[in-house]
Amino acid sequence: MRNVVIIGSGCAGLTAAIYAARANLNPLVIRGLEAGGQLSLTTLVENYPGFPKGVQGPELIEMMQKQAAEFGAEFKEGDVTRADLSRRPFLLELGKEQIETKTLIVAAGASAKLLGLESEKRLLGHGVSTCATCDGYFFRGKEVAVVGGGDTAAEEALFLTRYANRVSLIHRRDQLRASKIMADRLLRNEKIKPVWNSVVVDILDPEKSEVTGVRLKNTQTGEETLYPCDGLFIGIGHSPNTALFKGQLEMDELGYLKTRNGSKTNIPGVFAAGDVQDRTYRQAVTAAGSGCMAAMDAERFLEAEG
Ligand code: NDP
Repeated sequence: MRNVVIIGSGCAGLTAAIYAARANLNPLVIRGLEAGGQLSLTTLVENYPGFPKGVQGPELIEMMQKQAAEFGAEFKEGDVTRADLSRRPFLLELGKEQIETKTLIVAAGASAKLLGLESEKRLLGHGVSTCATCDGYFFRGKEVAVVGGGDTAAEEALFLTRYANRVSLIHRRDQLRASKIMADRLLRNEKIKPVWNSVVVDILDPEKSEVTGVRLKNTQTGEETLYPCDGLFIGIGHSPNTALFKGQLEMDELGYLKTRNGSKTNIPGVFAAGDVQDRTYRQAVTAAGSGCMAAMDAERFLEAEG
């Protein structure tokens, strides 16, 4: 039986692990399928305090993990397949393995959203990607497109200019949602070509198992055009990984966990941290802060329970 199990090994989960480990609670971190969370899929992080020249996302995550391990946090690979929060201790299943825990910190993060096209499903990993850092290298000297108008899309597009000859940014409006600094960098970059007021309605060509272009629809005129490209990166945001807790933990209409009085969920002993419960800020530093809160709340809960 564990004192604290933390689901998720991104910024929130690892910060919770550092705090819980330093409180001698010997936390177990379940690293999950997307171990390290979104920071491990990014490059230079310029807005995490303490790094005046920025820090590489994967390096920051590695340092946090080492810091947690230093104080006695344990790590387990795998994905939680079922959670029963109706009983105490709580029961988690990772396939056939069962883990019981007195408290649970849900820091499972969010995963990249997709457009929902059949062709997208078939071409994912064959020219369609949600991670420029992971797959950009394959598009050296090619022409690629990025969908989205937020910071994720801006970051993906800027990163891809290292490899691709031309990066088109396909956005459904004519105004970016990205922060000013990212938007300025994007619009100044000569390799990046914005394609405004356009949505991707189909990706070609699943029959060839490669991307040869996208069919675009103009949101103003309704006109459809064929836009050739060798790769498509989807950067339209993320949705929280909370499906496991449906019907058990209260969530909003988009699936974000509802918290109150800090990190508390509707079930005493279950706490939430990071992107699973934050649809507003979603920053590395806010995720870390909420991980700290969850660990402190779990510690107080265990103390009160005796
Ligand atoms: P956002 O929700 O900010 O942006 C998503 C973008 O995708 C929007 O432009 C939206 O269009 C578009 N979009 C959403 N759904 C669709 C769809 N189905 N079809 C076409 N377009 C779609 O998500 P991000 O992931 O970009 O950013 C999330 C948070 O993370 C923000 O707070 C951001 O600041 C932060 N972040 C910061 C980074 C940094 O500082 N370096 C890097 C990455 C993220 P519309 O604008 O019309 O709604």
